[in-house]
Amino acid sequence: MDATIAFASARNPSPTRVSSPSSASPFSRVPQRFAVCGPWRGRARRLRALRPQSQVQATRATASDASHHDVVVVGAGIVGLTIARHLLLHTPLSVAVVDAAVPCSGATGAGQGYVWMCHRTPGSDMWELAVRSKQLWEELAAEVDGQGGGSARERLGWMRTGSLLVGRTPEELASLEERTKVLSQAGIHAEFLSASSLHALEPALSVGKDGGAMFLPQDCQIDAFQAVSLIEKTNNSYSSEGRYMEFYNDPAMSLIRSEVTGTVEAVQTSRNILYGRKAIIIASGAWTRSLLHSFLEPDLKLDIPVKPRKGHLLVVEKFDKVKLNHGLMEVGYADYQIAQSNSSNMASESSEDEHGALSISMTATLDTKGNLVLGSSREFKGFSREVDKSVVKSMWERAGEFFPAMKNVPLDIDQNTQIKIGHRPYMPDGKPVIDFIPDLPNVLIATGHEGNGLTMALGTAEMVTDMILGNPGKVDSSPFSIKHRFSGIIFRKYQCFLHMPLVYNSVQK
Ligand SMILES: Cc1cc2nc3c(=O)[nH]c(=O)nc-3n(C[C@H](O)[C@H](O)[C@H](O)COP(=O)(O)OP(=O)(O)OC[C@H]3O[C@@H](n4cnc5c(N)ncnc54)[C@H](O)[C@@H]3O)c2cc1C
Repeated sequence: MDATIAFASARNPSPTRVSSPSSASPFSRVPQRFAVCGPWRGRARRLRALRPQSQVQATRATASDASHHDVVVVGAGIVGLTIARHLLLHTPLSVAVVDAAVPCSGATGAGQGYVWMCHRTPGSDMWELAVRSKQLWEELAAEVDGQGGGSARERLGWMRTGSLLVGRTPEELASLEERTKVLSQAGIHAEFLSASSLHALEPALSVGKDGGAMFLPQDCQIDAFQAVSLIEKTNNSYSSEGRYMEFYNDPAMSLIRSEVTGTVEAVQTSRNILYGRKAIIIASGAWTRSLLHSFLEPDLKLDIPVKPRKGHLLVVEKFDKVKLNHGLMEVGYADYQIAQSNSSNMASESSEDEHGALSISMTATLDTKGNLVLGSSREFKGFSREVDKSVVKSMWERAGEFFPAMKNVPLDIDQNTQIKIGHRPYMPDGKPVIDFIPDLPNVLIATGHEGNGLTMALGTAEMVTDMILGNPGKVDSSPFSIKHRFSGIIFRKYQCFLHMPLVYNSVQK
């Protein structure tokens, strides 16, 4: 019997307000409707992007809405919050984080939470960052376990479940066998499993006689909300010594520059002016492209072609019909990621991307509460947060192809299920952007991690910290630079950008 899905109404979470500064836990927070063209933008005046200080003083600034920090981070997703954490833990700098909404309202709140190496390729541009990031998650989990006050499992959703990358055809099996060799040579513990060995490990899974898997016993998972809560708690512990402030439900609107030096000094939000003496970091995920346009135009033009890639995640509470012993991913998803990270074409997109086609790959994990978490869909639908029932149905059916027991289970979307929607920050060449903006040397962008942001956040935070301090990085940051990747585009579109001095709107002193 085929699975039946009863859809009554889609759950659409409503916003939770958090005042700033705040130490409230994001546990109670749910993703909210938020888009660049959302309500907060309607309210906003169209401010000049790079505004000179005198205009600011004449128009908005008062002593009460200005605050001074060493670093201002725009965006309180996993990337922005972990950058703040790393700076607080490893430097004496003070940090402010500002978000248009609340933590977990972006892609982070929909993240499945796998911190896996099974779908990565040794030697690729992303490899080192992934290896370092996973090591940092391991260290964080060990630290939490050693602290008392709750295990990493309880506080981070941390589990070393291992991952199974699963194939069903002889071709997929051959690619898994090859992948096992390559990962083993790179020092990752990887095992190739025939159909019968796989069955012994994961009896509920059915891959047919030609199927098999690659098994990485050291792969781990986190819970995105718990991880964010833990990171926020760390960050907020620096509030009392005046080193940390957070400003939520307060969208960043423009950058303010010094008339004397021309450097960017502050971020103008809807309610505040946040001065960043040392650096301003833009970690606003899929919103970064339009935010940069409104920040920089018309004085500077830089097009970072990050765009929202919508994803659905299905959480079925206390699902006991299928027992999972490990995290699972179908090999097609890994192949997709490899194709993306091998792409060097920034201007064009793959045929899947061009047509905005929906694609669904099976990823399945159990969280610490025993909920079945099923991923995921990928499609370009702007910033739509609507739950698409047909997509959820397809995800359920796709999972049913791997878990026969699920085929007989009706899924009632209103009963014991949660559907999370997130917008992955997609880059056409499959790599994040982590770099200072040329000609604005204290403004740094950290975004574009697409389906890897939870995994890569800690390594990104370390990289950003090293960049700010001028330290040599532990991981080569050149694959993520702006100059090496965007110079052609910038030059073609905006010839003045690299070759002429900045022209400001006011007379410089
Ligand atoms: C279904 C799904 C499953 C996933 N599973 C995994 C997984 O298992 N493992 C993994 O590694 N990754 C996974 N990802 C990817 C991961 O969730 C993202 O890469 C990551 O969350 C991106 O984090 P971020 O901080 O860059 O962006 P976001 O989390 O989107 O945060 C950006 C923040 O910027 C804020 N913002 C926007 N504009 C402004 C403004 N003007 N002023 C102030 N703030 C602003 C937003 O409100 C938002 O909070 C998944 C994603 C999806 C959708």
